[in-house]
Amino acid sequence: MDTTEASQPYVGRFAPSPTGLLHRGSLVAALASFEDARAHGGRWLVRIEDVDGPRCVPGAARQILAQLRALGLHPDGEVMVQSQRATAYEAALQILIARGWAYPCACTRSDIERALRSAGTPPARHASAVYPGTCRNGLNGKTGRAWRLDVARVLHDLGLPAVLHWHDRRLGEQTQDVAADVGDFVLRRADGLWAYQLAVVVDDADQGITDVVRGLDLLDNTARQIVLQKALGCPTPRYLHVPVVMGENGEKLSKQNGARPLDLADPAQCLQEARAFLARSGWLCGR
Ligand SMILES: [Zn+2]
Repeated sequence: MDTTEASQPYVGRFAPSPTGLLHRGSLVAALASFEDARAHGGRWLVRIEDVDGPRCVPGAARQILAQLRALGLHPDGEVMVQSQRATAYEAALQILIARGWAYPCACTRSDIERALRSAGTPPARHASAVYPGTCRNGLNGKTGRAWRLDVARVLHDLGLPAVLHWHDRRLGEQTQDVAADVGDFVLRRADGLWAYQLAVVVDDADQGITDVVRGLDLLDNTARQIVLQKALGCPTPRYLHVPVVMGENGEKLSKQNGARPLDLADPAQCLQEARAFLARSGWLCGR
């Protein structure tokens, strides 16, 4: 599954969403990717993931970049900004449509729930629904709202197994049956916004990313992103998912559960705490 050439120079990235300022949890992810790039003598890039515009806080992107500067985490190249990348995402969608791998979907959330209930497979509480494929073979006169990827068809046409295997540098072998566990996921949302998965894959390819180092909370996205890489003919980077800092409610630390912005009066102290967290979790950079 690892198609990255060993001889290719390392390019890593940190890709924050400007939904708030960096806190000690997001610094762990930033530092892990930065130090891994340094340990490999590689380049480290930054990308602002503001593809979900309504969730972003005005001015946060600029402030995050200022925070990184204050911490001495300087990107080795231009900062990519997803909200300026619509042309690239549109081109990728058109490729998938032309290959017969993307289809329009007219379903609302309640349409999907109704279809799953009548099929006797309602989603477990808190689990996200696996799209039942209602529009895969046509819209039946309805108007398309979103675009979805025909996952099983992509894998079949490319001669790939239904269960995807990939390797995480810390966690070892990983598998996911994307069609069964996630279903035909969205590429462009009904509200016109680009889906996170498509944006990430197109951006990683355009930035020449060879190594994705990010928080464990994003592990579950990996197989979907690999399917998209295959569909678009993009190389699959190496992956490393590092532990995430937990909030008091046992979930990933975030603004919603009490994370305060980093106190950059003492950047060295912030970095030391993030380094200590990574060391405690048993992860040493560069491995
Ligand atoms: Zn549909």
